[in-house]
Amino acid sequence: MATDRGKALREIVGDLTAYLEAQRSLGVEFLDVRWPTAAAQPARAPRPTLPEVREELGECTRCKLHGHRTQIVFGVGNPAAHLVFVGEAPGADEDAQGEPFVGRAGQLLTKIIQAMGMQREDVYICNIIKCRPPNNRTPEADEILACQPFLLKQLQAIGPRFICALGGPAAQTLLKTKEPISRLRGRFFDFHGLPLLPTFHPAYLLRNPHEKKTVWEDMKLLLRTMQQAG
Ligand code: URA
Repeated sequence: MATDRGKALREIVGDLTAYLEAQRSLGVEFLDVRWPTAAAQPARAPRPTLPEVREELGECTRCKLHGHRTQIVFGVGNPAAHLVFVGEAPGADEDAQGEPFVGRAGQLLTKIIQAMGMQREDVYICNIIKCRPPNNRTPEADEILACQPFLLKQLQAIGPRFICALGGPAAQTLLKTKEPISRLRGRFFDFHGLPLLPTFHPAYLLRNPHEKKTVWEDMKLLLRTMQQAG
């Protein structure tokens, strides 16, 4: 009896070790592990749908950007995508068309997605903030904070298996860090139990084309890991 329990325990420890080593070999550095006590497990809120999240956002005036925008740029793509790309903020083209990543940087992102063997319609694309900042300046902390619940609900609605953060502001917002993107890119982090891969923003690649090969290495890592995960 005691021997059986010892054997079962050794098997569990062995399985757990193999699982953790596999995660580490995939580049995962942190696991968000919480002990499942009854108190820590409130009844789960039902998963929202994307139209519900969009409706809740409404004609948002929660931050000062509402006075500058032409329209809200919510997100586009497969509502059940396995992969979500999260960028920084709409630019002039996105603000005019109401769709994220449609300008020059967006066209490069589309090419990257196609080089990965997918189409824009296969993935979901959104930004950490939904309104264009004046003169395309970097989003400010209060703007990011006001928009964050909607980004999180969007991700909850989609239920992706992987997230790719494009550029410093997206990666730093999602991972709650100030580390520069040059230090974050190319490895997986845990985001609420999901693997999140930061990489350079396509707009940065337009200014620094020699870094395209770095992003391509990151995308190959992402594809390999997605394939391994089935
Ligand atoms: N850059 C972004 O980060 N998002 C867009 O939608 C367009 C450009």
